[in-house]
Amino acid sequence: MQKTIPNLHTHTNYCDGKGNAEEYVISAIEKGSSSIGFSGHAPVPFKSGWNMTNENFEKYLQDIDNLKYKYQNKISVYKGIEADYLKNTVEPDIFFDKNLDFIIGSIHYLKVPEQVLPWDFIISPIVFSKGLEKFYNNDIKKLISDYFEATAEMSFNKSVDIIGHFNQINKFNFGNIYFNENDKFYLAKAEECLKVISENNKIIEINTRGKFRKLSDTFYPSEEILKICKKLNIEITLSADAHSPKETDSYLTEAAKYAISAGYTDFLSLKEGKFEKFLLKEYI
Ligand SMILES: [Zn+2]
Ligand SMILES: [Zn+2]
Repeated sequence: MQKTIPNLHTHTNYCDGKGNAEEYVISAIEKGSSSIGFSGHAPVPFKSGWNMTNENFEKYLQDIDNLKYKYQNKISVYKGIEADYLKNTVEPDIFFDKNLDFIIGSIHYLKVPEQVLPWDFIISPIVFSKGLEKFYNNDIKKLISDYFEATAEMSFNKSVDIIGHFNQINKFNFGNIYFNENDKFYLAKAEECLKVISENNKIIEINTRGKFRKLSDTFYPSEEILKICKKLNIEITLSADAHSPKETDSYLTEAAKYAISAGYTDFLSLKEGKFEKFLLKEYI
């Protein structure tokens, strides 16, 4: 029987997902997965529509610990977070002492001058296009540079295991309306950043969410960028970025095939609490 790919990227109703954590565990068991990881959006020190509050965060940690124990004979439950990086404001390493099994580091906000709140550039196409005009004078190259620079800086955080949705700067670039994704400048900036990620030994996730929600034609990272990851010997993991219990394995088999087509033979995921290699061919 084909094995179910274990997913570590999961959001529950503690942050912006639907359904409680136990429903995700039950769904992952029903799908035949050997493990499931939770990666709630960690608290940030500013107003946010989707991050957990400090109070909710403590409840989340307790809840995941309880589920770990309750389902220990059926599935390995891993307690993680998706942590934001925003220069001089919040870093994944501040959660170092929370006894987590893993941390996904992601860029969801960018610092912009003279603004009290950071720019939540991926929340909607309108917020993106208005911000690009207002904060960047429509200089998309500057924005691309800033985005990858922030990602590279984040990778110096020791507690980060996985870099989330690596090239999400293209989230609203449907039909290349802002830039050409085969453009030399863009790929060079991505590669510069990936070199730092590689030196810092971080894992890149193949994130299927955009694809299965039909918000994007491609996975993160996109094909050209995944080939650069392979060239730089960067390890990968496969993530559904689930926001509802039924999504715990969405498009992961397709992601495994995609990884194989880029030259990968294995992916990393947690086994007995440590990142281990899993053979892709056993999951397609
Ligand atoms: Zn994210
Ligand atoms: Zn996420």
